[in-house]
Amino acid sequence: MTTLTITVADHDETGWRFDNTYSRLPEVLFAPAIPARVRAPRVSILNDRLALELGLTFSTLSSEAAASLFAGQDLPNGCQPIAQAYAGHQYGGFTMLGDGRAILLGEHRITSGRLVDIQLKGAGQTHYSRRGDGRAALGPMLREYLISEAMAALGIPTTRSLAVVTTGEKVHRASALRGAILTRVAASHIRVGTFEYLSALQDVPNLRVLADYAIERHYPELVDGPQKYVEFFRAVTDRQASLIARWQLIGFIHGVMNTDNMAISGETIDYGPCAFMNAYDPDTVFSSIDHAGRYRYGNQPRIAQWNLARLAETLLPLLDSDPEKAVTSATEILGEYPALFERYWLGGMRKKLGLQTAEAADEDLVRKLLDWMQNSRADFTNTFRDLSSEELVGDRYRDPDFLTWYSRWQLRLNREARSKTSAYALMRAVNPAVIPRNHRVEEALSAAEDRDDLSVMHQLLAVLGAPYEGGTDSTRYRDPPSDDGDYRTFCGT
Ligand code: AMP
Ligand code: MG
Repeated sequence: MTTLTITVADHDETGWRFDNTYSRLPEVLFAPAIPARVRAPRVSILNDRLALELGLTFSTLSSEAAASLFAGQDLPNGCQPIAQAYAGHQYGGFTMLGDGRAILLGEHRITSGRLVDIQLKGAGQTHYSRRGDGRAALGPMLREYLISEAMAALGIPTTRSLAVVTTGEKVHRASALRGAILTRVAASHIRVGTFEYLSALQDVPNLRVLADYAIERHYPELVDGPQKYVEFFRAVTDRQASLIARWQLIGFIHGVMNTDNMAISGETIDYGPCAFMNAYDPDTVFSSIDHAGRYRYGNQPRIAQWNLARLAETLLPLLDSDPEKAVTSATEILGEYPALFERYWLGGMRKKLGLQTAEAADEDLVRKLLDWMQNSRADFTNTFRDLSSEELVGDRYRDPDFLTWYSRWQLRLNREARSKTSAYALMRAVNPAVIPRNHRVEEALSAAEDRDDLSVMHQLLAVLGAPYEGGTDSTRYRDPPSDDGDYRTFCGT
């Protein structure tokens, strides 16, 4: 008997397993959306390593088919594209928003059974675009790809980047730029602002539906709990405290911590004007529009608490049928945030200094180091990494103020049960040798934008993919920029 092999030419061979749980939620939460036709899609970069983690393979696709897929021209089977509704406090002021330039294809089920959102950013206008063109430019999309992947390698919860394609069309900003689309992968895109949207509509029944959905997707252990909405708020608060502590510990400045850019899942989301701090200074701000420094490095923990208060306000009707009791429990949880944050932060700082035990004076030890770094304009990342080497190299480390601190720290290390060698090894596992330095990021982006040369970006990604290793040629990537004070970032519109 002859066996016939039939090949079906669709995306199933790539491994997509789409579900559309979000688009089964109440209609008020989204609007159907179709990715715009684009002239000549071309793959700029494709994340094979992430694809593998997601159980996907694109190597069987022709480059045209891959470009068409990631430009939203040729949709995978089973997806049901939508734009999500949300609101947000932007720089403190409330606005109704929604995905104006992003389209959610649906959720892909990975091998573990977990769902991940697959979203095309820059795929054209939606119901929520207002006056925007729904498009994105190549530079900002590659920037999000680079920094989100660097954050993932650093071990920080974050959305991921699967691909960037150019559209073959221009987008018009201050000048004409090359259009591009980023494929973003996220635990979900539910934001504090999603709750604010329904709260503004005074739609309590659907608020409950959204909360139940978020609990099931991100906090399944709470599903059957007696006070599940109170516990949900507590759990979101905990994840944010932990996330922001992680940012502070590696010098990451998000740049635009509006409530629409804070994910309920606890992932870092929306890489617009973000950048890494070089010389330690709590007042560091890179965003060109953040004149008052609302989102400066040192203010991030407080802003997260402010955003959580906005979330709490939306949840009040669910927390307790007695409004006063609802306010009491929300206030109590919010009140615990500063201590919670401090605990995560101090725990992380102890590791950065090679300490496994806790002593009461540890916080002072950390603060004294930070004070010295600030006074001497020492590089945040390199100082911590240098401390883990047996021999400190550089004039800076001959400063008597530093030496006083150093002896105190050495005495403290002597009180640990472990050897210094193992303390230093612990330090190297948490203090990165390389971070995405602003000038190296710009170098990679301009090579890609101006010369269509992605090799600089690939080299940088390779180094950032192993940030705690510090390979032999990492010096080039470790040096801070010389003109740090002039560096400005822009919202990626
Ligand atoms: P973001 O600065 O990316 O967090 O975006 C803030 C809001 O502006 C979101 O609602 C976006 O969907 C919307 N937005 C940003 N850029 C565009 C654009 N080019 N067209 C339409 N909407 C946009
Ligand atoms: Mg946003």
